[in-house]
Amino acid sequence: ASKIYVNSKAKTFKKLNCYSEIFQLDEDVSKERVISLIEKLNNDSLVHGILLQLPLPSHLDAYDFLSKINPLKDVDGFHPENLGLLFQGTPRFIPCTPLGCIEILEYYKIDVKSKHVVVIGRSNIVGKPIMSLLSQPFKKGNATVTICHSYTKDLSKYTMSADIIICAVGKPNLINGNMIKDGCIILDVGINRINDSSEKGYHIVGDVDYDSVIDKSHSITPVPGGVGPMTIS
Ligand code: NAP
Repeated sequence: ASKIYVNSKAKTFKKLNCYSEIFQLDEDVSKERVISLIEKLNNDSLVHGILLQLPLPSHLDAYDFLSKINPLKDVDGFHPENLGLLFQGTPRFIPCTPLGCIEILEYYKIDVKSKHVVVIGRSNIVGKPIMSLLSQPFKKGNATVTICHSYTKDLSKYTMSADIIICAVGKPNLINGNMIKDGCIILDVGINRINDSSEKGYHIVGDVDYDSVIDKSHSITPVPGGVGPMTIS
């Protein structure tokens, strides 16, 4: 998934005539080496944005690095200062995937005000910021948000009452037609690679069983082609 994302970002930069550079480090890279690269980029006035592609190899902790990125170049919005600003209701950089989701809702004139939004997944990059954004008293907020995770008992109890479901887990078929109410709107954030016998050897699906919800739901973002491209954009 990371490779697909990095390549798509680089291609998009090129298309937009913007300069970008990929620093592909070895899997066993040291913490010091990553920090020194971040510091170099922090101090380079020609660099306006730094994206640390996650996840990292298991010996590294993302938070050791995200907090080292200059908050003014932290265009992913993962620095504690930027996350704090977002949770405070005065966002500077909004993480790309939540922002992409909000743009989709806005484009299709889906007002979340007073709606029940069920967010499944509580990561710092998707679930938590989207929960914060949609529940705050912003023009595009004021929803009642429920956040579910792996310890949620009886997930369908929550999804059945959702006007909007935003699913960011990474488990194919987690949500099916029996778990949603009629007219539900679904943003499927999940990206799952399924091996198959095609030339490529795999295909990509989301977390939602698309075929089983398509007749019952009001609308659903497809995977691939929905939230993913919006994240890049
Ligand atoms: P993550 O950090 O692994 O978080 C996954 C979340 O799902 C966790 O909060 C986990 O709960 C929860 N979860 C796991 N099993 C569950 C279950 N059975 N029922 C309910 N919740 C469950 O993942 P992430 O980085 O947020 O990414 C999630 C998915 O979105 C992945 O497939 C990723 O590839 C995709 N993604 C897509 C985009 C895009 O642009 N389309 C961008 C980012 C990520 P706990 O907290 O209890 O462990």
